Amino acid sequence: MRAKLVAGNWKMHGALSDNAKLLAEVMPGVADLSRSKQAVCVAFPYLAQVQSILAGSRIAWGAQNLSQHPKGAFTGEVSGPMLREFGCSYVIVGHSERRSLYGEDSDTVALKYKAALDAGLTPILCVGETWAQRTAGETERVVESQINAVVVKFGVTALAGGVIAYEPVWAIGTGQTATPAQAQAVHAFLRGKVAAQDAALGAALPILYGGSVKMSNAAELFEMPDIDGGLIGGASLIGGEFVAICRAADR
Ligand code: PEP
Repeated sequence: MRAKLVAGNWKMHGALSDNAKLLAEVMPGVADLSRSKQAVCVAFPYLAQVQSILAGSRIAWGAQNLSQHPKGAFTGEVSGPMLREFGCSYVIVGHSERRSLYGEDSDTVALKYKAALDAGLTPILCVGETWAQRTAGETERVVESQINAVVVKFGVTALAGGVIAYEPVWAIGTGQTATPAQAQAVHAFLRGKVAAQDAALGAALPILYGGSVKMSNAAELFEMPDIDGGLIGGASLIGGEFVAICRAADR
């Protein structure tokens, strides 16, 4: 059985005092959970802080981006090996904000995915369609091509070390969540595509849903057979909300 994972994406939010307060609310709220996993993905400057607060707890931590290169003359970039030095387990790659605001295409995202694996990190590979693509009936084509960018370059087995996050772009930060049935349909499609190449890998692949998940809708999403947890943006910044979402995944 796939253990559920709830990962918070703090985006470019946080401050030393706010982070400490937030984690002081979240840590006791999830300490008794046993069936699911939790993580927070924070801005680079706060990695040392979250490492010192979360070390020894059941909450893992990670980053929201990395360079496709392990080191070198790449001013302003941060590498996978650097993230490992701060105890990161996870790194988000291909978030729609990186794709739309910073021009990351699927080829670059695939290179970042591989760089994360090479550094011993678990990449959380984000895929998802825009509203225009959904209404044009292109959802499956879009998400399949985003995953295929990794498969074509590195083989389907590269998916074994990662996590997929289906995040419809129209649901991110909008308050408009995909219905459980809409999300389940895409998750089942993705799992089926991977399973067609490697049945065991398809069955084991964790596929998170992201897009306006809140404590009020988490349970119904997580009940779907192919939804293995969530990637949580705004609600991960509110202690009580994040704890309730984590608890919904642990049922
Ligand atoms: C995200 O940024 O990955 C996300 C899902 O954001 P939100 O939960 O705020 O929609």
